[in-house]
Amino acid sequence: EDRSGKGAYRMFEPAMRSKLKQRREMELDLKAALDAEQFELYYQPFVDMAEKRVSGFEALLRWNHPEKGMISPADFIPLAEEAGLIERLGVWCLETACSEAASWPGSMTISVNLSAMQFKSATLLADIDRVLAKTKLAAERLQIEVTESLFLDESDRVLDILKEMRRRGLTVSMDDFGTGYSSLGYLSKFSFNKIKIDQSFVRDMGRAENIAIVRSVIGLSKSLKMQVIAEGIETGEQMRALLAEGCLEMQGYFFSTPQPKEELPRVIAEITKR
Ligand code: C2E
Ligand code: CA
Ligand code: CA
Ligand code: CA
Repeated sequence: EDRSGKGAYRMFEPAMRSKLKQRREMELDLKAALDAEQFELYYQPFVDMAEKRVSGFEALLRWNHPEKGMISPADFIPLAEEAGLIERLGVWCLETACSEAASWPGSMTISVNLSAMQFKSATLLADIDRVLAKTKLAAERLQIEVTESLFLDESDRVLDILKEMRRRGLTVSMDDFGTGYSSLGYLSKFSFNKIKIDQSFVRDMGRAENIAIVRSVIGLSKSLKMQVIAEGIETGEQMRALLAEGCLEMQGYFFSTPQPKEELPRVIAEITKR
C-alpha cells in the first residue's frame, strides 16, 4: 500500500472514485438482498469413500442479484463484513442450513462456513443453541468450518467459543488448511477436530511437493486423532491418489458441484450407485 502523498492524490482519480461508488452501491444492494430473499444456499456433498455414501453436505452461499446475476461469495462476503452485515447473513445461513439438514437422514452432517468476524458477535453461541433447538438438529450433525484467518485473533474469547462448540458436540473444522497463517500448534490449541486439505494441494498431486504435503497433513490428522477431508477433487486420478494416501472423506466437482436443495436426492442416489 502506498501511504505517501501520491497515494492520497490517487484517491481522487476517476477510476478509483467509480470503484468506491460501485462498492457502496453493492453494500446497499446487500442490505436489501436479505429482505428480498435473494440469497440461497447450495449444497455440495462430502463422500465417505469407505462406505461409498454421502456423509454430509457443505452449505455454500449464493447471491442472486436482480441485475448482476449470480455473485460469488468470494466477492460479497468481504463486503458484507465491511458493511456490518455478516452477523445477520451468517445467522441466516446457519438457520437455513440446519433446518434443511434436519430433513435429511440422521447419518448426514451439515457444514456451515463461519467468517472469522462472526466470532466477534456476542451472540454466536446463543444463536447456534437457538437454531439447534428450533430446527431439532442434533449438535453432533453440525460442523463449523473456519479458516486460518481466525488465528489473527488469538484471544481467549475465540478459544472459549471454539471450546464451547466442541463441548456441545459440534465438529470444528479447519478449512483451507495450509494456505494461511497456520501453525501446527494452533490445531490442538483451538480445539479443532477436523482438517480440510485445501484444493490447491489436491489440484496437482502429480507434483512431489504436493504429495508430500498431503501425506504429512493426513499423518498429522491421525496422530492428533482428528478427522481429515480433502476438497477440490476433480478427477478420478486425484481421487485414487488421495485414497492411496489413506484419505477416506472427499469433496469436489468429481462427485458433484454445489447444488440447490431440490437436487440433493438425485445427488445422493448418483453417488451411492457409483
Ligand atoms: P470454501 O469454503 O473453501 O469452499 C470451497 C469452494 O470451492 C466453493 O466455492 C466451491 O464451490 C468450490 N469447489 C468445490 N469443489 C471444487 C472443485 O472440485 N474444483 C474447484 N475448482 N472448486 C471447487 P464458492 O461456493 O464460490 O465459495 C467460495 C468461498 O466463499 C468459500 O470457500 C467460503 O470461504 C466462502 N463462503 C461460501 N459460503 C459461505 C458462507 O455461507 N459463509 C461464509 N462466511 N463464507 C462462505
Ligand atoms: Ca468451506
Ligand atoms: Ca475450503
Ligand atoms: Ca477457500
